[in-house]
Formats: sequence, structure tokens, C-alpha cells
Amino acid sequence: MSTHKHYTGLIERYRDRLPVSADTRIISLNEGNTPLIQLQNIPRLLGKDVTIYVKFEGLNPTGSFKDRGMTMAVTKAVEEGSRAIICASTGNTSAAAAAYAARAGIKAFVLIPEGKIAQGKLAQTLMYDATIIQINGNFDQGMALVKEVAEQAPVTIVNSINPYRIDGQKTAAFEIVDDLGFAPNYHCLPVGNAGNITAYWKGYKEYATDRVCNNRPVMCGYQAAGAAPFVAGKMIDNPETIATAIRIGHPQSWESAWAAQKESGGWFDKFTDDQILAAQKMLSQYEGIFCEPASATSLAGAMQDIVSGTIPEGSTIVCTLTGNGLKDPGSAIKQCAAAHPVTIDASLDAVKRAILDSL
Ligand SMILES: *Cc1c(COP(=O)(O)O)cnc(C)c1O
Repeated sequence: MSTHKHYTGLIERYRDRLPVSADTRIISLNEGNTPLIQLQNIPRLLGKDVTIYVKFEGLNPTGSFKDRGMTMAVTKAVEEGSRAIICASTGNTSAAAAAYAARAGIKAFVLIPEGKIAQGKLAQTLMYDATIIQINGNFDQGMALVKEVAEQAPVTIVNSINPYRIDGQKTAAFEIVDDLGFAPNYHCLPVGNAGNITAYWKGYKEYATDRVCNNRPVMCGYQAAGAAPFVAGKMIDNPETIATAIRIGHPQSWESAWAAQKESGGWFDKFTDDQILAAQKMLSQYEGIFCEPASATSLAGAMQDIVSGTIPEGSTIVCTLTGNGLKDPGSAIKQCAAAHPVTIDASLDAVKRAILDSL
């Protein structure tokens, strides 16, 4: 008999730790099981003796970590008899909701801020055939509307205020500990609505309580300078950043994110759009890993705190790369405009000259 086991998604893998029963129909696209990649060149460039891994969540089925939460949220929505789901989104939640709704055969409604979601995310959401409701407003306004409308219409909210989202997303912490054999000393991630920092902390605590590992990381939450309510210590009204996935001023998981920071002895910090884009480019250029701008905020933060010594040498650090760079081709092409490819004659001589010129 074959012992081969086909990977069928995070609910199957961690079903003992998730709210499903033997009868639950699982809505999955084989999400999770993403690679934990050790950086080889950036630590050397920083001149520090640290071990940095990136958890590349951009390799999930719809290209972001949102799939982890969505497999759980849609599985439970279907189990509870729901025929439609709804979310407000900066792009990735809508792509994930639309895909899992398609898989389940139910309807998805997504509220997005007009003109403020990256092109790849819009393309996905259209293809998966969600009903897109564009609003003249930002994510926070969309979120408030979704909460109101769900009280009056038969739709299940699948934003991270849905506790099943957090349950699904905590499995990323399980995977990291299962890969390393221990929890990292520091876990760095971008913070927008703050569901993910909440979920990771829940996962790490659960594993430590059950003695799967005997340590827990310090949680470092990094925000965009124009959308940094946790750094300001209060909600803000007009968030602005090129990292559209974290363009949020009123995070829904406010209390639980503060709990993660306090209980873990961690901190919040903020970075300018230029710092975020520089980290995104470094990761691509020196490691061959292309994430979206918001995701690179985790690395921007880790690099700063490693160089300053706030994260000491000898540490093992994990940075979550929340989404795939292909989600937002526009910002990447704009950033690399100076390196715009030149066009030459289609002749051997011209191509040879072009190669020799840049060696
Ligand atoms: C959703 C998202 C975030 C922010 O995660 P929160 O749970 O809202 O804090 C960061 N990066 C990307 C790419 C995202 O899609």
C-alpha cells in the first residue's frame, strides 16, 4: 500500500486544533504549507550575525495569507447554512473571499475603496466572479458599512472580526514551529487591521501551552508611516500609504494586537513608503523573493531593529511576507522606472553589445 499523502490544506493538517468535526464539508484550495525561506545575502549586507527566515505567504492559492483565514471562515459559513459572504477589503481579502465562495458555490460581495486596490487583486476578484461594490471611501468606511449591512441582510461577514479567520491564520505559527522545531526569538509582521498579529500570537501561545515548543517569540508589528494607529496610540482618520494592503486607520483587532505586543514584550514601529519600497526591492534583488509593498514592511522593520541592536545578534527572526509581488505590478514597474529596458535592433551585434556593456 502506498504511504504517499497528498497535502489537502491546513484544516486537514491541523484539524485537531480547529473547530471542525468529522462531518464538516471542508472548503479548501490546499492553502498553507508555505515555504519558510532562510535569507542568505541580506544578513551579510547588514553585517550582523542573525538568522532571518521569511514565511512566504504570497505562495498561497490566491497569493496572500488571507487564504488561511478564508478556508476556515467559508467552511464554517457553509456549515452554518449561509448562502452568501461579505467583506470590506483593501484587495487581498476580496480575492480570497471570492475564490473560496466560488469553490463553495455561494455568493461573495466585496466592498473596496475605489481606485485604491492593486491591479492583480482586482483582476482576481473579477475572475472569481464576486459582486464588487466600489465605494467612494476608504477601507475603514467600507468595514463600518459591512458591519451594518450584515445585521439587515442574510450575509456572513468574512473580515477578520470573524473569529474563524483568526483560527485559520494561527496555523502559520504552527507551521513555523513545526519547520524549525522551536519558535523564533522575534516575529516581525506588517500590521493593518491587526488580525494577523492576533492570529500568530494565538498560535504561538497555543503551541507553547501544549508544550509543542517551550518558547514564544517577541512580536514586532510594523506599520506604514501614513497609516500607523498603533504607533500613534490612537485610531486615525485618513490613512495614506503606497502599501495599500495596510492602508487602515481603524484596526478592528485593536485590543488583541495590544495584548500580543504586551504579553510578548514586543513593539510597534512605522516606516515611510520609501523605506518600505527599498526593503521590497532589496528582497527581490538580493534574495530573489518578490513580495508586495505591504509585506516588505516586516523586513524594513527587522532590518532597522537588527542594525540598531534592538534585535540582538544571535537571534532567529521570522518575517511574514503576507502577499505576492505579482499582486501589484504597477508599483513595482513604477519603482523600477529608472531601469526601464532599452530597445535595440534585433541583430546579433546589437544584442552582443548590450550584454558586453552591462557586464
Ligand atoms: C491583509 C494584509 C495585511 C495586513 O494584515 P492584518 O491582519 O490586516 O493586519 C498585510 N499585508 C497584506 C499583503 C495583506 O493582504
